[in-house]
Amino acid sequence: MEDCIFCKIIKGEIPSKKLYEDEFVYAFYDINPEAPVHFLVIPKEHVKSANDLNEKNMNVVSHIFKVINKLVVELGVSESGYRIVNNCGVDGGQTVNHMHFHVLGGRNLQWPPG
Ligand code: 5GP
Ligand code: ZN
Repeated sequence: MEDCIFCKIIKGEIPSKKLYEDEFVYAFYDINPEAPVHFLVIPKEHVKSANDLNEKNMNVVSHIFKVINKLVVELGVSESGYRIVNNCGVDGGQTVNHMHFHVLGGRNLQWPPG
């Protein structure tokens, strides 16, 4: 989708620190990390938010979790623990309107969020 920064990252038009890529997903480090480990996993197909998941496109969510499963092992936080976050919409704190899953780890995260 034009004017979507994450679509541009997928296409290589905006540089990113890539962790993983396949036919369906792209994973990269967050530009503004909130934890020692903070990366994002996004579908290559432009899906605006979790609200826009449907029978046709929601298989990508299980694929995203599979990729997260692999990356947390590689980055050494699978045992210490981590948090998977999907912000949806204005009240959810979503600032980029291309659905993404944050993965945060490497420190003790507080709960509840603000
Ligand atoms: P949201 O607030 O929508 O849940 O999360 C968007 C995330 O994308 C933020 O954590 C922000 O730091 C990250 N982000 C925004 N623009 C860029 C970018 O150009 N490159 C990378 N790597 N991360 C970005
Ligand atoms: Zn997009």
